[in-house]
Amino acid sequence: MKYFSLFSYGFSLFLIITLHTGCQQTEEYYSLDDYKSVAKIDTHVHINTADHTLIRQAETDNFRVITVNVDSPSYPELSTQGEIGSQLRTESNGNVQYLTTISLDNWDNSKEWLETTLQHLEESFEQGAIGVKFWKNIGMEFQNASGEFVMIDDPQFDPVFEFLSDRDIPVLGHIGEPYSCWQPLEEMGVNFVREYYENHPQYHMYLHPENPSYDEIITSRNNMLEKHPALIFIGAHLGSMEWSVEMMREHLDRYPNMVYDMAHRVTLLQYLTQEDREGVRQMFLDYPDRFVYSTDIQHHVHSNPDDIQNLAERTWKNDWEYFTTDNVMMDEEVNDREFRGLKLPKHVIDKLYRLNAERVYSGI
Ligand SMILES: [Zn+2]
Repeated sequence: MKYFSLFSYGFSLFLIITLHTGCQQTEEYYSLDDYKSVAKIDTHVHINTADHTLIRQAETDNFRVITVNVDSPSYPELSTQGEIGSQLRTESNGNVQYLTTISLDNWDNSKEWLETTLQHLEESFEQGAIGVKFWKNIGMEFQNASGEFVMIDDPQFDPVFEFLSDRDIPVLGHIGEPYSCWQPLEEMGVNFVREYYENHPQYHMYLHPENPSYDEIITSRNNMLEKHPALIFIGAHLGSMEWSVEMMREHLDRYPNMVYDMAHRVTLLQYLTQEDREGVRQMFLDYPDRFVYSTDIQHHVHSNPDDIQNLAERTWKNDWEYFTTDNVMMDEEVNDREFRGLKLPKHVIDKLYRLNAERVYSGI
């Protein structure tokens, strides 16, 4: 009897130890030292030059990158951007992939516009593009011949989205802007957002109340998603809903094919973390399959290579610290207040930094 009790005590102890170890295994974390050994993908950068500085830094830090073409007036011609993307893809043995984009030139001649657009997309995919970017000029800037803003749910886009949806080609949609864009500068809590609108008043919608509102733009994006439920859609910049964990969660529930990228919005996550760290952290734990890591690092012909190297090194390392540790951090791009890292478990980090991107951008 005594022997049995001793045995049963030993067995219980064994069970406790096993369970405890098992528990630790499911809650494993990476450290700062693991940074270089973990394979990672930055799904949103802009390389508009043949220079390899950013690519070399990516190799050093174990990153693959996706460079994104944009129909922006400050970027090279779309054909040049496509050529650079295709060339870097070849030269880097696939460590660099690229997204093409569409042009709104000749929009009012709708039949011709559609033909040209579909032909351009076909050619881009033959050249190796793995997805398509739609930019904020849709909904915020571009107007048709009658002076109306063209929104992303305009029926003229439907055949394009059908074409992409039928072929499982992912769409990166930068539709809208941070919520702060509709606020006065002095109400903006994040330094880099305030500085951006100070320098780009044409995009500061608080100054342009006659233009479509935040709600109208988000609604047009949602209408488009409802018309094309099978479309693989990546909401760039946290889907322009970076100001509210509740709103981001609600849209993930509503649109099961939507994933968020966080290009230049880790700063805004850090701002939310200052108020509600548990809420931000829980969102990543509850939706581990729905975020892809991205930075929006921009490398242009006029960029200083040393600056680009430092920017990439610093941004990638700081973000890794924020997501993998619970260190107390500060970033002047956010503000002068501290925040604590999210310390997400390994299985969430692996999805955020690589597995989700490999699923969503399957051409990678
Ligand atoms: Zn971008």
